[in-house]
Parts: sequence; structure tokens; C-alpha cells
Amino acid sequence: MRGAVLHAPGDVRFEERDDPKIIEATDAVIRTAATCVCGSDLWDYRGINPVEQPTPFGHEYVGIVEEVGADVKTLKPGQFVIGSFFASDNTCANCRNGYQTDCLHRELVGAEGCQAEKIRIPLADGTLVATPDQPAEEHIPSLLACSDVMGTGWYAAVAAEVRPGDTVAVVGDGAVGLCAVIAAKELGATRIIAMSRHEARQKLAREFGATDIVAERGEEGIARIKEMTGGIGADRVLECVGTPEAMQQALRSTRPGGNVGFVGVPHGVAIDGTELFYSHVGLRGGPAPVREFLPDLIDRVLTGRINPGKVFDLTLPLGQVADAYQAMDERRAIKALLKP
Ligand SMILES: [Zn+2]
Repeated sequence: MRGAVLHAPGDVRFEERDDPKIIEATDAVIRTAATCVCGSDLWDYRGINPVEQPTPFGHEYVGIVEEVGADVKTLKPGQFVIGSFFASDNTCANCRNGYQTDCLHRELVGAEGCQAEKIRIPLADGTLVATPDQPAEEHIPSLLACSDVMGTGWYAAVAAEVRPGDTVAVVGDGAVGLCAVIAAKELGATRIIAMSRHEARQKLAREFGATDIVAERGEEGIARIKEMTGGIGADRVLECVGTPEAMQQALRSTRPGGNVGFVGVPHGVAIDGTELFYSHVGLRGGPAPVREFLPDLIDRVLTGRINPGKVFDLTLPLGQVADAYQAMDERRAIKALLKP
């Protein structure tokens, strides 16, 4: 089979790789129906994370079960499935508490690269969620979005404890930030302020439920949020970037007693303990336990309540994966969907 391999910053190749096989009896192998490039893949593509050796890439996927190991009980070949970037057994104490990304037996699915024609999924029974039937073609982008960005945006809102009637600000207008707008709306926020300076992204944020747009950043952005919220800040702020500037903007835009949910993978973020202490702001984040939300999110997609697949504004054959990275790196695309 063929798949994407990152050789060096800026150098993604589509090349022949070994076919994935069942290694553990709890594994499944799926044939990829669609995959995509994540904003977090760009940290490596841009050389911000070091690339030490040729590395298979990608961690978002939907597919058809091709083969299952002897101990897999709930899945059979032919089923359409969605899973998250961490494999989880969905039975251990952390999984039962809804933190499948902290599964005591977790394995990174992305370690073997999901931008490929086939993928080995460890702990298949716990990791994969099958749709009731073969989904319609039009639902596939939104189901793929649930594999990471929609689940991550959802967790940002859950971690910040968004409640009906809240004013929510979203820092970051990438695919996760845009999905966080959907999540805030679904959880009942009445005012949703998207912080974005890009016209196409502002438009999509509004379509997803944003009521206000703030284009200012840094101190000006914080001042603008306070001005809009009676001088105190938003009830909940969802940080979907991972830079020191974005985190500071989030913490300082939140009212005393409010919460920040942060899902941008931190790069160089340091939090001042004294400032946090006096702010009375609650803080929770981390790699989203997407698996916890999958059944609910799949249902919302299949019933037409949400359409997070709109974040894909570029679709390319998997063989053109290098073009997909380039388009996202140059911000010509919000998110690129790849079809084998
Ligand atoms: Zn577990």
C-alpha cells in the first residue's frame, strides 16, 4: 500500500509502505475511506518539531473494516468506522471516567500514519465506533471531522463547562476553533465571539453559530472582549491555538469565575501562577478524549444537526498529499481532505 511519509521539513512524499497487519488479537485493519491533514501536522512540516527520520504521518481517519483479530468482538469486516488518534480499550478506570486519551492501555494510532490506504487500529473494540449503516457520501467529511477536530472543539467547550445562556469567546479560527463554535452553540451558548481576521473563516464561523467577530488580537483583542461583556470578560473562553499569545489572550479575556478550555497543543506556553491565582479563572484542557464524544457527535452528524465537514475547503486525491500540506502551510486552505 501507499501512504504519506514526512522526510524533512517541507518534504512529504507519497510512497510504498508495508501493508498493515493484525499484530495483536485485539487489532483491526481498516481500508481508509477518507483522511486529512491536521493543523498539528504542520508543527512538524514546518520544522518546529524536529523531524529526525522519515516518519509516516496523519492521525485522522474514517474507513471500512477489512480484517479483525481473533479477540475483536464488536466489529466485523465491511462496517464503516470512525476512531480517534489514541487507541483506547474503553473499559479501564480512566476510560470509564471519560478520559480515553488517558487510557491505561492507550496507543497512538497516528504512530503508523493514517494518511495511507490502510491503517492498523489497536484495541479495535474500544477505539472504533461503527455507523449504523454505510453513510451517505455527503456525510463522510463531517464524520471524518469527528475523528479529531470536531471532537477536539467539543472537548474545549466541555472542558470550559459551557452552559446554556453563556457568552463564549473562541481563540483560533483553524478547523478546531471553528468546530469549537459549533460545540458552544450545541451546548447552548447564546453569544459566541469568534476571534478571527480572515474573511473566509469569519464567514464559516458565523455559519456555525458565531454571533460576533473580533478581529483584534493581543491586548486589543482582550480589551474588545471586555468592552463587549460589561468590562469583565467572557464566561468561557476556548483556546484552540497553543501559542503563548493565544493562551494569554484566553486567560485575560475570561471573567472571574469563568473557565478556559484549552486544546491547542502548547508550544512554549508558560502560565504565570500568580496571575492565574488572582484571576479566579478555571483552566482545563489536554488532548481531547474524542472517543467519549464519538457516539453523540456521529448521531448529530447523521441527523443533520451539525455539519463540521464544511471546514474542509480543499479535497485532493491521497496521492497529492504533499499539495495538501503546502496549501495548509500557506493558509490557502483551512483543512484538506484526502481521498484514497
Ligand atoms: Zn482505557
